[in-house]
Amino acid sequence: MNKAIKYRLYPTKKQTEYFLKCFGCCRFVYNQALNWRMAAYKADRTSLNYNDTAFGLTALKRQFVWLKEADSIALQQALRNLDSAYDSFFKKNGGFPKFKSAKHSRKSYMTINQNGTVSVSDNAVKLPKVGTVKAKIHRKPLPDWKLKSATVSMDSDGKFYVSCLFEFDKLIYIVPTSGKAIGLDYKSDGLYMDSNGNVGSNHKYYRESYVKLAKEQRKLKNKTIGSNNYRKQQLKINRIHKHIANQRLDNLHKLSTKITNSYDVVCVESLNMRSLSNKGFGNGKATMDNGYGMFLNMLEYKLADRGKHFVKVDKWFPSTQLCSCCGCRMRLALNERIYKCSCGLTIDRDHNAAINIRNEGLRILQSA
Ligand SMILES: [Zn+2]
Repeated sequence: MNKAIKYRLYPTKKQTEYFLKCFGCCRFVYNQALNWRMAAYKADRTSLNYNDTAFGLTALKRQFVWLKEADSIALQQALRNLDSAYDSFFKKNGGFPKFKSAKHSRKSYMTINQNGTVSVSDNAVKLPKVGTVKAKIHRKPLPDWKLKSATVSMDSDGKFYVSCLFEFDKLIYIVPTSGKAIGLDYKSDGLYMDSNGNVGSNHKYYRESYVKLAKEQRKLKNKTIGSNNYRKQQLKINRIHKHIANQRLDNLHKLSTKITNSYDVVCVESLNMRSLSNKGFGNGKATMDNGYGMFLNMLEYKLADRGKHFVKVDKWFPSTQLCSCCGCRMRLALNERIYKCSCGLTIDRDHNAAINIRNEGLRILQSA
């Protein structure tokens, strides 16, 4: 299996210059080789490819000595790209290869990892010739993933990225028993209650930030729309919004990573967020804001990366109505927080639901 992860790079001035040089060299090599091939074809109808020593990278480097400063694997790759462009032309899948313009061609180059020439650490990516480049590693590859190649690119507003391609074996997984499984029940005024009775909630500073936000929003009302002060205040508010979003994201990552590391099976209810917020929970704002949907997405991909299971229980499954002990069914009013069954079970409503979700999830998994 392959997986590509794209990281934002923060190159120094010198590294930026190097990247730009590499983009330019790759484009140059591509264009020059195309030039030669076209000339050779015109002269005596010979078809060349990058393996022809007289026209390959060695020849190019001999004539254009400055190419030696660029990553030679990247240059080799540029020549391969030209070859595939020719291939698809001959197979009538594409037009005749075009010269790459400095202005309009994609600014990127690809290099291949050769025994650790490319690697990803906590806060940087190592690349041939340029060395360690600062990067935001939002997702760490697992220890058994093999880094195959990396593509450095620059987008239109000058930001640099590297897309790393990893290869790994697909894990074969045995359905575990309930000891390593957990069920999560959605909580509109927090995040979730799990089947062990623990509550996962948003960041503790989250509320404080909201108080601050409300205060700054009140201040905005006293300012003249369109004035400098109004604009400044608006900026301040935007920054708080951004800060809150970051706090939330950070917290969701922490919680989902912790669950993924501790359990093999995570069972959740598939929810329709929109209908929930209108469902008379009386707390629409909290529902839309608490990021549960985002949280489920994180869980899903993190579990998949580790070959673990993410099981969605149907949204019509009566998780709150069933007794998690004896299985009998009764309706609970929305404001009833305790589930009291005639079998003797007395349990928090959400805790009961989370256990039911876990059991139903395991049943689905075992019958699949
Ligand atoms: Zn019961």
